[in-house]
Amino acid sequence: MNPDHHPAIPMVDLTAQYPLIREAIERGLHSALDEAKFILGPNVQAFESDVAHYLGATHAIGVASGTDALHLALLAAGVREGDEVITTPFSFISTAEAIRYIGAIPVFADIDPHSFNLDPDSVAGLITAATRAILPVHLFGQPANMPALMQLASDHKLVLVEDCAQSFGAGVDNTMTGVMGLTGAFSFFPSKNLGGYGDGGMVTTNNADMAAEIVALRNHGSRERYYHYRIGFNSRLDELQAVILREKLAHIDAFNASRRRLAHFYTQALSGLNGITPPHEDGIGHHVYHQYTLLCEDEAHRSALMEHLGRHNIASAVYYPVPLHRQEAFQAQPGEPVISKSPATLPVAESVAKRCLSLPMYPELPDADAQRVVEAIRSLA
Ligand SMILES: *Cc1c(COP(=O)(O)O)cnc(C)c1O
Repeated sequence: MNPDHHPAIPMVDLTAQYPLIREAIERGLHSALDEAKFILGPNVQAFESDVAHYLGATHAIGVASGTDALHLALLAAGVREGDEVITTPFSFISTAEAIRYIGAIPVFADIDPHSFNLDPDSVAGLITAATRAILPVHLFGQPANMPALMQLASDHKLVLVEDCAQSFGAGVDNTMTGVMGLTGAFSFFPSKNLGGYGDGGMVTTNNADMAAEIVALRNHGSRERYYHYRIGFNSRLDELQAVILREKLAHIDAFNASRRRLAHFYTQALSGLNGITPPHEDGIGHHVYHQYTLLCEDEAHRSALMEHLGRHNIASAVYYPVPLHRQEAFQAQPGEPVISKSPATLPVAESVAKRCLSLPMYPELPDADAQRVVEAIRSLA
């Protein structure tokens, strides 16, 4: 059945990276095991300080996941039940889930057709007296239009919370994602640009009160052991993950540069192919290609291309097939209170969701494999 006897090319291959960092990670893990300070130990502290330094943030607070980072960031930013938070429908569900965790209402705006990021004009049209925050995602590693969103936030006195789960190391001019808004939320899920070997996340901010609130929220609402001034959570970054992440942080610029090199190879090779639109760098910021996501002509073309790549033993994936405003979880049952808002249609998000296709993307992807991917795509076009 398979006309191509080449080995499979996966979306991500974490085993390709491990040999490069194995020795340092194993050494670090052994000494952490010997020290046995497993909860908020010295490696979490050191990693927090390394990330703050790398990003140019005053505070970086490790938490249990990117989803928790969003949840705690929104809470500490003062978002409350019933507040409206304007966000993108073209993201992983966590972005809007975190808004619902506190009973606030996600309001979905449309996206830009080229960058796939939140469209500031669409956001502007949805601001009401109930709007409290704007939550952009730096999707696939490309910074959202922060200059325009920061202007809107300042004009309307809204807080800006950045979802940086896919954008570690991306920035606008000399400012990194995660320090342009009031606060940023990062994920260290294994497949992210900076990924651990399990779950992890981080909240960044330059605001000392915000930081103090996050530090307490991640640890049962406590500032002093066994004294609890509010209800918090058990959401701490794991000490062993911090060992791994610290080592990988030292390589992040090289990893991101390899992603960009691969992306530019794909784009050059695929430009001008009938029906294929390679991803667009809008020039607003520095793109770190968490994903390489092109557009097909239509849904049928995408299915055909996925199948064709599959026959060549090449993985591809749809991030994301159903925009959030169409997810069942955000539809209120008749008679139920409002749980999300959006215009009747979000034409750009709906069209992009039908046509997007992501190709294998990781720093160690061999050149010969990248060549196989573009040849397979060319052979269908
Ligand atoms: C991965 C991701 C998250 C959630 O991160 P977890 O660490 O898996 O909880 C949130 N938002 C976006 C855009 C993501 O890609």
